[in-house]
Amino acid sequence: MEEAALAANFRWFEERAGVPAIPAVKADGYGLGAAQVVERLLKAGARTFAVSSWWEAQALGRPDLPLVVLHGFTPDCAPAAAALPLARPALATVAQCRAWAEAFPGREADLMVNTGMNRLGLEASELGAADGLRLAVLHSHLACADEPAHPHTPAQLAAFRALSGALPGVTRALANSAGICWGREYSFDHVRPGIGLYGGVPHPDARVAQVVRPEARVLQVRDVPEGQTVGYGAVWTARRDSRVAILNAGYADGLPRQLMQRLRVRLGGALLPLAGRISMDMLAVDVTGADVAEGDWLAFDFDLPALTEGTGLAQYELLVWMSRRYDRIWV
Ligand SMILES: *Cc1c(COP(=O)(O)O)cnc(C)c1O
Repeated sequence: MEEAALAANFRWFEERAGVPAIPAVKADGYGLGAAQVVERLLKAGARTFAVSSWWEAQALGRPDLPLVVLHGFTPDCAPAAAALPLARPALATVAQCRAWAEAFPGREADLMVNTGMNRLGLEASELGAADGLRLAVLHSHLACADEPAHPHTPAQLAAFRALSGALPGVTRALANSAGICWGREYSFDHVRPGIGLYGGVPHPDARVAQVVRPEARVLQVRDVPEGQTVGYGAVWTARRDSRVAILNAGYADGLPRQLMQRLRVRLGGALLPLAGRISMDMLAVDVTGADVAEGDWLAFDFDLPALTEGTGLAQYELLVWMSRRYDRIWV
């Protein structure tokens, strides 16, 4: 994983937005390791971070940092919230607003409002629930910003402007990574980039550097005579006498079967295809003519947009499935 690329991506989104970014580090930093990501983004200038749950907030082990807890607040989360004095829930329902005011009177919170995604958030008619709360940031979230020119996005912008007009002077945040690419009218006071920081390409205009470069180790190299097959289901047949490397990576390493036709191993200048199905904990690569030995580490060509083409997979999934079985090595 490349520290410089993570920092460069953070700077790209902040400069594009022109306002301070609150990086989303939920789902264990999109699979890269939230604590390690936070440490590096602090150096790049980030101050506040967004996690999903109070459990994630606690797991981060940084009570010294301002956090936004996107799933909101329920009374059972009070012990966690008490231990994290700088964390703020993004309150999304009337009941959550009441519960927060009761548990932590006078303590700052954020508010999530619905502008058309219909996931989390208060309706315009429910904004009275925020009366008496100390609001830090008013949030809403874009549903379709990754599709350039989708009419939902400007409609949500208009709804957010209208809704936030009811809370004059409040600090506002709307855009995720893709939303930032729509231009500065989407920036407001803060933006919340996630996927783009980690090398996902959220929008055609995004200029994002690759951060994650997974590698796997060669367990065995074997000769496969012409006509023989490789792996489960015998779906790959050697068209000539071939050499195949068996690698120690599979489903539990974030490589689902749908990647069979897309995933490549990068070796020198060459891109080597898989031979047959990805199986539970292993996969085979056609290394005919290449210099590969048992014990070698081989790097996957982990081009996230390319891996999603025709596979039905999301870049988000490919990142968050990077499991703890990898050594997370930052260079
Ligand atoms: C996850 C999340 C983000 C980050 O979205 P990306 O598409 O990963 O940039 C921003 N805001 C909210 C509310 C989120 O849940």
